[in-house]
Amino acid sequence: MNQATSEGASHLAEVKLRIADAARAAGRAIADVTLVAVSKTHGADRVRELLDAGQRVFGENRVQEAEEKFPALKAEYPDLELHLIGPLQTNKAREAVALFDVIQSVDRERLAATLAKEMERAGRRPSCFIQVNTGEEPQKAGVLPADLDAFVTACRDLHKLPVVGLMCIPPVDEEPALHFALLTKMAARNGLAQVSMGMSADYETAVRLGATHVRVGSALFGVRH
Ligand SMILES: *Cc1c(COP(=O)(O)O)cnc(C)c1O
Repeated sequence: MNQATSEGASHLAEVKLRIADAARAAGRAIADVTLVAVSKTHGADRVRELLDAGQRVFGENRVQEAEEKFPALKAEYPDLELHLIGPLQTNKAREAVALFDVIQSVDRERLAATLAKEMERAGRRPSCFIQVNTGEEPQKAGVLPADLDAFVTACRDLHKLPVVGLMCIPPVDEEPALHFALLTKMAARNGLAQVSMGMSADYETAVRLGATHVRVGSALFGVRH
């Protein structure tokens, strides 16, 4: 098996190159941008292809799907870092705290309180991003921009969550750059160093506008079925 020429490996090399170019163009250090490989709907074999090529950070948007794929891979690759990037129901908080290393979708008071309780109970503290609904879309998860600063304060001071950054998913029909710039500004205002934004179609723009984490699925794994 020639891993250097696997499809996954060549897509990974291409995406990493583009991230590096975008970082360089923006005068940013390449090491300050983490590629989160979004493996939802793809099997463990596809994840393994990227692990073989050196990728260690992965994102899944469902707790149950991640539970089916990742415990075995994590046992095999102890430095694998798994991010939850999809909506989290409070009744799945315990499982999420047990499996994920980073939870990017904290977006409401009750979830924050439940995560705090489960972290205390498990003695395990996954880093948290707060998801911001920058487009104020009614159907979309995330804290509204106007409520963000108070929510960050509650998460940090009341619930003592390890909040490290902000995450957003811009509306599909709007210029993402405006949302990325807004998210970076809100993170800085709240003293948060990390910003998760940018997907397959717009991760280079996100890097130019300050993303520390880009979440890339189809550009690495191909189309989802
Ligand atoms: C699926 C998903 C991605 C990756 O999307 P692509 O367009 O396939 O790169 C990124 N972020 C979230 C929250 C997702 O659900």
